[in-house]
Amino acid sequence: MLMQGKNGLIVGVANQKSIAYGIAKACHEAGANLAFTFLNDALKKRVEPISSELGSDKIYELDVNNPGHFEALRENLTRDFKKIDFVLHAVAFAPKEALEGEFVNTTKEAFDIAMGTSVYSLLSLTRAVLPVLKEGGSVLTLTYLGGPKFVPHYNVMGVAKAALESSVRYLAHDLGAKNIRVNAISAGPIKTLAASGIGDFRMILRYNEVNSPLKRNVTTEDVGNSAMYLLSDLASGVTGEVHYVDCG
Ligand code: NAD
Repeated sequence: MLMQGKNGLIVGVANQKSIAYGIAKACHEAGANLAFTFLNDALKKRVEPISSELGSDKIYELDVNNPGHFEALRENLTRDFKKIDFVLHAVAFAPKEALEGEFVNTTKEAFDIAMGTSVYSLLSLTRAVLPVLKEGGSVLTLTYLGGPKFVPHYNVMGVAKAALESSVRYLAHDLGAKNIRVNAISAGPIKTLAASGIGDFRMILRYNEVNSPLKRNVTTEDVGNSAMYLLSDLASGVTGEVHYVDCG
């Protein structure tokens, strides 16, 4: 029961295929008390049963592009937990048309949406929860190989992930003074709602399955277990890192 007595906030569950679900499940099974956020009313209906399944009745609305939601989030966390030990940021979005065709044709609007929702949101979320994050706490985000390397169709999301990975290092510096760690997991491709927006995603899955040393694709359980390590005290000396969980 590695996470016994720990309180954590999970941002980014859309359904049971979400990577955030795999992480939340692993943390719950290891004893953590969790709170969840939902993007809108349509997703609230999905997140509610998941939070009950994972032993929680604490769910809060959070659209990362709505500054008012962050204030409410901090108040809710203070009321419900006083302090939390960890926060998961598993949020990304880019308009579908920016995830196909040539990167050179990315519009300013699509670029701003991708960067705001997928990168700046990590800063907003971290800032919002900082007053309630315990010393020794941990912040974790999700990234992808399309950040440091070219991956077909990943386009503006690749640029966003590169910025996200850099943000992890700068945040790790700022929060290190408070003994709070900030890391990312670079997950291999997994069929989720967000991934369904990426052109030829099936081809990426197949390529990874054939070429990875473990000869399979990663699962949300694989990511959940590694995430639990980074969110727990086992990783007390690990910060500013991008940890690959992609079957090699
Ligand atoms: P998902 O669709 O299950 O999760 C994405 C989440 O982002 C959803 O819960 C959605 O509600 C949330 N979101 C989108 N816009 C939001 C907004 N404005 N405010 C608040 N929440 C918002 O898909 P996933 O694949 O589990 O994605 C989680 C993270 O993992 C993303 O950062 C994604 O880039 C990353 N990732 C995914 C893969 C993959 O292959 N699926 C691989 C590596 C990294």
